[in-house]
Amino acid sequence: MKNIVILGASGSIGTQTLDIVRQHPEELHCVGISVGRNISWLREILSRQSFAYVCVQRREDAIQLQEEFVDPAFVFGEEGLVFLSTLDEIDTVVNGLVGFTGLAPTLSAIKAKKDIALANKETLVVAGELITRAAKEYGVSIHPIDSEHSAIFQCLQGNRIEDVEKLWITASGGSFRDKSREELKHVTVDQALIHPNWSMGAKITIDSATMVNKAFEVIEAHWLLDLPYEKIEALIHPESVIHSMVEYVDGSIMAQLGTPDMRLPIQYALIASRRYPIENHKRLDLKEIAKLHFGGLCPIQYPLFYRIIDEAKRGGNRSTVVNAANEIAVAAFLEGKILFLDIEEIVASTLDSVPYHTLENLEDYIRCDRESREVANGKIGG
Ligand code: MG
Repeated sequence: MKNIVILGASGSIGTQTLDIVRQHPEELHCVGISVGRNISWLREILSRQSFAYVCVQRREDAIQLQEEFVDPAFVFGEEGLVFLSTLDEIDTVVNGLVGFTGLAPTLSAIKAKKDIALANKETLVVAGELITRAAKEYGVSIHPIDSEHSAIFQCLQGNRIEDVEKLWITASGGSFRDKSREELKHVTVDQALIHPNWSMGAKITIDSATMVNKAFEVIEAHWLLDLPYEKIEALIHPESVIHSMVEYVDGSIMAQLGTPDMRLPIQYALIASRRYPIENHKRLDLKEIAKLHFGGLCPIQYPLFYRIIDEAKRGGNRSTVVNAANEIAVAAFLEGKILFLDIEEIVASTLDSVPYHTLENLEDYIRCDRESREVANGKIGG
């Protein structure tokens, strides 16, 4: 029996994790959950399921809920997230938070020797060096909840990482894969939020359309497997049938295929020892699909992808700056304050404005994140 907590339980990854936990009462037990401000969702789930601990964002919500429900102990805020992530009785923290917020609880969990099932890829983008160093020091495993990295972990089974020649990370191309740069000037938020293959949260769907998500996944793979950037390549694959591939030195390429269903990577991250059927999981019908297509990532169509990878190779604060600027720009786009192509403009010019320096501890990362957000915010007004 594995005891877990889920951070970001009301989101896309969180709700699907709860579904997997429900299907395996003999393997998994959810001790606690965190939600942000989605209190109506929380009330609904607490009416039919019990947890020992629940973390909400605001103090007033915690007090109010504690009066309504006797059962779970309510905690709140950043301290609440850290409390939940370091509970004695848990083995694994499922991090389904979005953005920089996921970093501090991940680090606390690692220091409390909890394994991490990580959907919050920004944690590794922002502070891959800090997180992987800590994971090594405290003997903690990080299991990716990202379809591409789950595919890669599955393709690595029984093989040596030293024998890997290349990781091929597949990319659907996102909402605007068939649009020209000219057409991209006037696309709307609603259009950007329709992903051709996957149903996900708003932030990651926009990141998929800008290809920032794919750049982040290259960085994530670099840190998870300690492989140089030269051995990691993104590949356009519109059908999203192959979730990623590993090419070995003998020329053999291993691929993992399936329908787009995040419950599979979630289940694999939590129970890797054996395979279980998943309820209502749509099977892949290769005869129906018949053809698969592949292509390179065009640098003219996706300039930000290449800029982010170049910056990541420099190390230091570069990816931290990228993530902060991107979070600000995506939020501004979703609020209708800027146009779609302004996202890449804001990320690029924030990178130009914030000089390179190195980062050592969590406080350095937090400071760099805050300063980069201020710079990015300044560019939105002007
Ligand atoms: Mg992914």
